[in-house]
Amino acid sequence: MVSRIIPVDPFDIVIFGGTGDLARRKILPALFKRFCDGQMPGESRIIGAARTEFDVQGYRAFVREAVIENCSGRLCETDNLAAFLERLHYVTLDARGEKGWDDLTTLMQTTCIRAFYFSVGPSLFGDLAERLHRHNLTDEDSRIVVEKPFGRDLETAARLNRVLASHFNEGQIYRIDHYLGKETVQNLMAVRFGNMLFEPLWNSQYVDHIQITVAEEVGVAGRGAYYEKSGAMRDMVQNHLMQLLCLIAMEPPAKFEPDAVRDEKLKVIRALEPVDPHHIVRGQYAIGDDVPSYREDVDNSRSKTESFIALRCHVTNWRWAGTPFYLRTGKRLKARDSQITVVFKDAPHSIFGPEAGRHHNELTIQLQPDEGITLCVTIKEPGPGGMRLVDVPLDMSFAEALGPDADAPDAYERLIMDVIRGNQTLFMRNDEVEAAWAWTDPIIKGWEARSDVPKPYDAFSTGPDDAKLLIRRDRREWRGIGA
Ligand code: NAD
Repeated sequence: MVSRIIPVDPFDIVIFGGTGDLARRKILPALFKRFCDGQMPGESRIIGAARTEFDVQGYRAFVREAVIENCSGRLCETDNLAAFLERLHYVTLDARGEKGWDDLTTLMQTTCIRAFYFSVGPSLFGDLAERLHRHNLTDEDSRIVVEKPFGRDLETAARLNRVLASHFNEGQIYRIDHYLGKETVQNLMAVRFGNMLFEPLWNSQYVDHIQITVAEEVGVAGRGAYYEKSGAMRDMVQNHLMQLLCLIAMEPPAKFEPDAVRDEKLKVIRALEPVDPHHIVRGQYAIGDDVPSYREDVDNSRSKTESFIALRCHVTNWRWAGTPFYLRTGKRLKARDSQITVVFKDAPHSIFGPEAGRHHNELTIQLQPDEGITLCVTIKEPGPGGMRLVDVPLDMSFAEALGPDADAPDAYERLIMDVIRGNQTLFMRNDEVEAAWAWTDPIIKGWEARSDVPKPYDAFSTGPDDAKLLIRRDRREWRGIGA
């Protein structure tokens, strides 16, 4: 498959936190891959800016290692890597002090697009915004990219929005949710709005229910201090799962343009009913064969933070009234597996008699570990055994479609290039983030008021038994994890 490369204008991208984990594993490798595809034109440069003391050669050695570790050998073996490293610069800088800001000002080019990636903790966002402004480093065409977490409740998110808004227009602020940069997530929109096949069936009349699962095999070790204050609700549901739900549930926007898409997503969030506490299950992983428990990982024997959550919610509008959405996410589960399943209703009447069984269609959008879309359809089982029906998958796996040597495009590649192009379609708007917190806050406050303790679950299982009961009560079953 030949991918079409859309040219972009020359740019300077400054990565605040350019020596951090996210820069090393995601941002810098993504930029390298775009460079290899010719999307860093002319004098475009990457400027790392962080507290770490590095000279430019030291930073280039750091980036070289990061790229080799995170990109395929095929790309790194070419002259590309040396040419890419030439584009890298570095400033030792303190977001909270004056150190390094004059050096950064001297380094910036005047004639190209300026993007500033805030790959630092959110407590520094305000300092960075204020200093960028004070040092005249931005103009009305400059962009900032901010990472999650965007606040920890409605109040802190609204405050953060106000701080950023005092220095930037909303059109300059790119709140990143890397789930939206995944090929499959964008494909979900192509499947829904590029075909006649699905949209007429995409409603409560034909859809029985929808499941969204984001399962991780890893625990929280290494990120325990952050996670303990966050939990699965804040870390995953409020942002990633909510965004996936929006794309599944939203009305067709009039155009594939930033505000048209985001207006429709916002309507979905605002139509979400408050969740009945009986329709939520919180869990926490217990000790496993070779792995510590959550409480050991975070070094808090009384922790009440959830590492798993399953819930049932409803989008109360004409399209979805009566169709439940089941969301589930957790750590230390059976496998790394993220998927959305749209389960259609059974055919209303079987002409093949009771022995043929009841059948329905399912559309599965697989996000991790491999990306792909599968439509399960019912056919006659081949052979002479009479009219027996069987469900078979029509499979569109991207790994196969792209070929065995293809480097699957990473979400960050797409999203960073969208920042340079000035396209905000796949980024969250201020009102979307606040609406998502407005839905999430009462749930969390309810747990706090009741001193709710999460249910323990076995490491590498599918979560607590209560999560199974949550969906079985409705005579439904979760789709398998890692199946
Ligand atoms: P990290 O702790 O590995 O790196 C932090 C970076 O910020 C370092 O480069 C450090 O030098 C720099 N820094 C810290 N204080 C500074 C200061 N006062 N002035 C200048 N630079 C300073 O963190 P990370 O994992 O890279 O995460 C960065 C941000 O991205 C965080 O907000 C995190 O929540 C978010 N995020 C990270 C991941 C991930 O996979 N690591 C995923 C999603 C979101």
